[in-house]
Amino acid sequence: GDARLSRVEKAETTCNYCAVGCRFELYGKDGEVVGVRPAEPESTPANDFSTCVKGKFGYDYVDAEDRLETPLIRREDAGDGPVGRDGFREASWTEALERVYDGLSEIRKEHGSEALSVISSSKTTNEENFLCQKFARQVLGTPHVDNCARLCHSSTVAALKQTVGYGAMTNRINEDVGETDCYLVTGSNTTESHPVLATRIKQNVRDGAELIVFDPREIGLAEHADQYVRTTPGEDVAWINGMIRYIVKNDLHDEAFVEERTKHFDELVEKVEPFTPEQVEELTAVPAEELTKAAETIATADTCIFGWAMGLTQHTTGTRNVLAIADLALVTGNLGKPRAGLSPFRGQNNVQGGGGDMGPAPHNLPGYQDLGDEEVLEKFADEWGERPPNDVGLRLPEQFHAITDGDLHGTFIMGENPVLSEPNIDNARRALEELDFLAVQDIFLTESAEYADVVLPAASAAEKSGTFTNTERRIQRVRPAVEPPGEAKADRKILDQLARRFGYDWDYDGPADVMDEINSLVPIYGGVTYERLEEQTKGIQWPCFDEDDPGTPYLYEDEFNFEDGKARFVPADYANPPKMPDEEYPLTLSSGRVLYHWHTGTMTRRVGTLMNHVPESFVTIHPEMAEQLGVENDEYVRVQSRQGEIVVKANVEGTSDPGVVFIPMHFRQGAINELTEHELDPTSYIPQYKVTSVRVTPLDVP
Ligand code: SF4
Repeated sequence: GDARLSRVEKAETTCNYCAVGCRFELYGKDGEVVGVRPAEPESTPANDFSTCVKGKFGYDYVDAEDRLETPLIRREDAGDGPVGRDGFREASWTEALERVYDGLSEIRKEHGSEALSVISSSKTTNEENFLCQKFARQVLGTPHVDNCARLCHSSTVAALKQTVGYGAMTNRINEDVGETDCYLVTGSNTTESHPVLATRIKQNVRDGAELIVFDPREIGLAEHADQYVRTTPGEDVAWINGMIRYIVKNDLHDEAFVEERTKHFDELVEKVEPFTPEQVEELTAVPAEELTKAAETIATADTCIFGWAMGLTQHTTGTRNVLAIADLALVTGNLGKPRAGLSPFRGQNNVQGGGGDMGPAPHNLPGYQDLGDEEVLEKFADEWGERPPNDVGLRLPEQFHAITDGDLHGTFIMGENPVLSEPNIDNARRALEELDFLAVQDIFLTESAEYADVVLPAASAAEKSGTFTNTERRIQRVRPAVEPPGEAKADRKILDQLARRFGYDWDYDGPADVMDEINSLVPIYGGVTYERLEEQTKGIQWPCFDEDDPGTPYLYEDEFNFEDGKARFVPADYANPPKMPDEEYPLTLSSGRVLYHWHTGTMTRRVGTLMNHVPESFVTIHPEMAEQLGVENDEYVRVQSRQGEIVVKANVEGTSDPGVVFIPMHFRQGAINELTEHELDPTSYIPQYKVTSVRVTPLDVP
């Protein structure tokens, strides 16, 4: 139509980048997002007026030139490897869906349902993730469904389920994290990864709160800290157990809380006994007096927030690290009251809801309901007319091994980019190449979609309706400001049509209708209706069991989520990381994020404003180490591990120990996962992204 006559659409919506869940008004015109403006304060519970650079300038990807606009089918002569746009031909929706149906059902006929897997996406809505796991369980009949939550906080979820009951942040961003007396932040580069939340912390610190940062890198937040302590990557259990020991030995623990609200305290005391300040210093390089000082500050503060992210979780000891933090919070009585609590900062906009609560996971049903619970299985069978498979399926990293082992033959990926996000991506690439059939549903031809047989064009978050759940368990509305380009469709609609092709007439009348089904099957979302979300502009925090339930701002006020209502101390065992640096690979590589980019970069690498700030990957090297290696700032260097090698720019900067280097995770060129190894935490199956032994050499050294 005539561009001058087309209207500007305004949508009050939730940010599609990080899990802080900032709300703002998105303005759209002719398929383009033309502006982002603050929303009314009564509908911005997490961010007041603020947004970060990604929220404000990060929506240009929506009308990027290479958005997928039609379904694509791999050309006959294109082979099995990765191909660009030329390796595909355009197809109609009917033909493309037919192809997906044929591809998946032929495999099912030959090898059974268990030869199929589904990968869901935390970038999509709750409703879409619910449908994605339903597609796997009801339509395909496979237990193998997982998503990227496996790669970020699965260890958090596993540890918090064992100790306090729910695998989620216990408190609110503004009223609790923003108002506490004391912070222990560890393994979270908050200013880069959760910028608006970091701003709240900094404001509160300016107003007098104590901030303690334990981290291998002297991150931005460290500048504002009362105490910054450098840790050794992978040695966290030692210093956290050491703090617990010091607190208990000096009678600084909350005795009444421990007595009334917890179990197994004696086992904890026994386990932490060896971790004297001197012993901790020996194991971790955390000076004894720094350890005891921090322990004292935490134990004597009225309220304390324990904040963490991937620096704690992405280890083979990930679950143990989080168990130790949970024990520390319990010992000091920092749960079940305002301005205190356990705050895992979740990553993706909807990883708490879509990746966790909605159950696209191989080890539980939606709402963390047990696969072994007959009553629950019956409830799903009644609603779906089909019992969900009740054996535990393959976790995400296991899926890729199962493909190369010949056990998985077909995969359906919704909005995930394993070719950059899996550890040791060489293995992921080989796996995708070996698949008999791969369908990828996404908004771009991602590095992973290049391996697909069929590519289905999806709508972005700016183009559809639904809900996201942010890191504080708050369910908030998502609304469209622009139309999807060409023939692209919301993931929900594509799944619906695909199910229909398989003979399942889901027939949902929009996302509110899907939420109806969620209300009836997922108790913690029992009262989260669209009607209420229209009225309560601040969203609803789960658990919210029925329509009269106002939701739960902070967890465990009266009871922990166990039958007896008591929290459990689960002592954390200490273990060295599996592979320490050696002569051949003398440096420890850690990974992370930068403010201007998002995960595998499929969106942010298409936004000019953001690319201007950080256009390519880099490796941060300490000046002393750079001198020793003969490396200059801004020079390209080779980084090698036992798995592979990459070439990236050197960024000489004294933020970590000279023996530690750092590379961000957002880039295709110089992708860090060429280097990482396939080592998993035995409880949660989270990969050890944070510790890899490497060597760095100038390019002119062979
Ligand atoms: Fe979006 Fe997170 Fe930035 Fe808020 S802090 S604008 S939710 S990326």
